[in-house]
Amino acid sequence: MKIKVALVLAVSLFSSALWAEKISLVGATVINPADGKVLPNATVVIDGHKIERVAMGRQDAATLGKQISCVGKFILPGYIDTHVHFFQSADLFTRPDGADFNSIRPYKDEVAWIKSHLEDDFARYIRSGITSVVDVGGPMWNFEVREKANATAKAPRVAVAGPLISSVSREKLDLGDPPIVKIDTPEQARQFVRTLAEKKPDLVKIWYIVDKDHPVDAFRPIVRATVEESHAHKIRVAVHATELETARAAVEEGADVLVHSVIDQPVDDAFVKLLKDRHVILCPTLVVFERYGRTFSHQLNLTPQEQKWGNPEVIASLDVTKILQDKLPQRVKDALADPKAALDRIKKTYDVALPNLKKLEDAGVTIAAGTDAGNIGTIHGPALFREFQLMKEAGLTPMQILQCATANGAKLFDGETGAHIGNLQNGYFADLVILNSNPIDDIGHASDIDIVMKNGVAYPADSILQ
Ligand SMILES: [Zn+2]
Repeated sequence: MKIKVALVLAVSLFSSALWAEKISLVGATVINPADGKVLPNATVVIDGHKIERVAMGRQDAATLGKQISCVGKFILPGYIDTHVHFFQSADLFTRPDGADFNSIRPYKDEVAWIKSHLEDDFARYIRSGITSVVDVGGPMWNFEVREKANATAKAPRVAVAGPLISSVSREKLDLGDPPIVKIDTPEQARQFVRTLAEKKPDLVKIWYIVDKDHPVDAFRPIVRATVEESHAHKIRVAVHATELETARAAVEEGADVLVHSVIDQPVDDAFVKLLKDRHVILCPTLVVFERYGRTFSHQLNLTPQEQKWGNPEVIASLDVTKILQDKLPQRVKDALADPKAALDRIKKTYDVALPNLKKLEDAGVTIAAGTDAGNIGTIHGPALFREFQLMKEAGLTPMQILQCATANGAKLFDGETGAHIGNLQNGYFADLVILNSNPIDDIGHASDIDIVMKNGVAYPADSILQ
């Protein structure tokens, strides 16, 4: 097997560097969640960076180029995580507005570390079989992240939103290029969207935070202006809105994407119909809802995949008991004093969010898998497999989960990229995951990865992080 793997690597590097040497992956079971079809004993013919065809049964050897046996393997489109943030590392120090550890690690040092580890993040996505991601908001330097990813072979395809248009401010994150910008009037919103549009964002993001000082209706005119101006520039709008009435207001004002589950109450039929009628895409981000509380209360439940494929420095930072008591923010002290309360809050969130996901999926709303990776404890790359577990707990089938993480995720991308990812069809990019075991039997097998192919270049999974 080692020799075969080396051959795949050599052959595809050759063919992408030059042109047109074909390779064919022969004899695998091909699973295409886009149409729900499972093809046994299939052949995937790859020509350069694209899929030439997927066919069943015996093929004319003369049309196959170099043949690679994949008997006993399972081939899927590369996974897509539609909610990540590259300006956050997932370590303990990455959100000083939520838990301020500046006295231990100044936030500017944290940001410098993040900027110097982008290629490391990219590789961890590829190791996890994730060949495309959507960064739904960060500083203006997010646009440089997209450029860097596009110029890096061992990186996922990256779509980005720029800074979040927000109802609240977050001064502690502002080092001169803030990820979150408080907008106070519709005209300010329009002006900001016009500035963003020059950078050609894939999405415009709204942070629709409500509390007693920021009621839903107060920010609504700004949401409306943002949507109108973005749509005038042919850019879709993604909204953070975690309460039912906030999410409803966002969609009524024209939001195209909801980037989280509704977590405060069960969704009602009118809301489900609204999402369906407007063709809104919803990204559940279940994993992030447990990770702040579990990290702060020293109850973190990283999966084996996260332990193995996450950044070790990030993971080491998440042990709050290593920090001197008098340096701990009050929020963390409180969580450590009463871990059960933290776990109860998480359970309460899932008691609402999981049935909501099931109801939306059953109704035919487009669900795109996403993690919110980069937030404290939500590990870049393998967090997606914890998200799959939680989607399974919600009652989704393995094929539904895989559809959310491939064909549906692709709908967040526009243009050429969006039209050529998330599907195993003629002319699509050769972004593939080759698994050792069948994810339709058990979604846990989705992380049993043998080879990841991005843009026609194959990487033996075990070699990626070496
Ligand atoms: Zn987010």
